[in-house]
Amino acid sequence: MSEPLVVLEGVNKWFGDLHVLKDINQTIHRGEVVVVIGPSGSGKSTLCRAINRLETIQEGTITLDGQPLPDEGKQLAALRAEVGMVFQSFNLFAHKTILENVTLGPIKVRGKAKAEAEARAKELLDRVGVGHQAAKYPAQLSGGQQQRVAIARALAMDPKVMLFDEPTSALDPEMIKEVLDVMVDLAKQGMTMIVVTHEMGFARTAADRVLFMADGAVVEENTPEEFFTNPQSDRAQDFLSKIL
Ligand code: ADP
Ligand code: MG
Repeated sequence: MSEPLVVLEGVNKWFGDLHVLKDINQTIHRGEVVVVIGPSGSGKSTLCRAINRLETIQEGTITLDGQPLPDEGKQLAALRAEVGMVFQSFNLFAHKTILENVTLGPIKVRGKAKAEAEARAKELLDRVGVGHQAAKYPAQLSGGQQQRVAIARALAMDPKVMLFDEPTSALDPEMIKEVLDVMVDLAKQGMTMIVVTHEMGFARTAADRVLFMADGAVVEENTPEEFFTNPQSDRAQDFLSKIL
């Protein structure tokens, strides 16, 4: 049994009166790939953002590799380096080249030498299939290529865990597979991943576990096979009947 990496205990969050995370208790183990699915507004993004400390929680604890998430300052920057995040909108720096997008964090946050950061960035850009685009600017790349750069940028920080929040939902259909392929590769190489996605193919290929969220709570969790073929709750059955 591999060791716990991300542990959420009694996590509760409200936006004003709206209870958006309801008593979340989850342990994500090193090397585990967890897919989070559920209707819009169920709290999936908030959950990811809480793990990256982009959102604060009012109750409960979240630990990464045994350490509670820091509140501010230097430790927070260090935490963000350890938790790679890939968003629906690629969020690349528009006025920096692809190479600079990937080297910036390692140089500024990790204190890497430029040459070392560039060598590693090129290796990662090759790995996600955009090595030949290194000198271009984000707007010169397709959405699928930009999202693969965003993945390379997160990986350049040597994160302990990667969070993906609907990474393919802003992409044209023909570009979805090229991004999912990179993610499947990462999963195979043992990266710990939390992935919000409705891509069943990805879940079936790569996920160890599916969490189904509704109204801020984890309503159901299971292996992808069991979840997709034999959902237990009415909410999950209803949701799956709409998307499958
Ligand atoms: P999902 O990603 O599953 O669609 P979210 O985590 O984005 O769900 O949102 C969960 C709930 O919290 C929704 O009702 C949403 O409207 C609300 N919400 C999200 N962000 C904020 C915010 N910054 N302020 C107030 N309410 C928010
Ligand atoms: Mg969301």
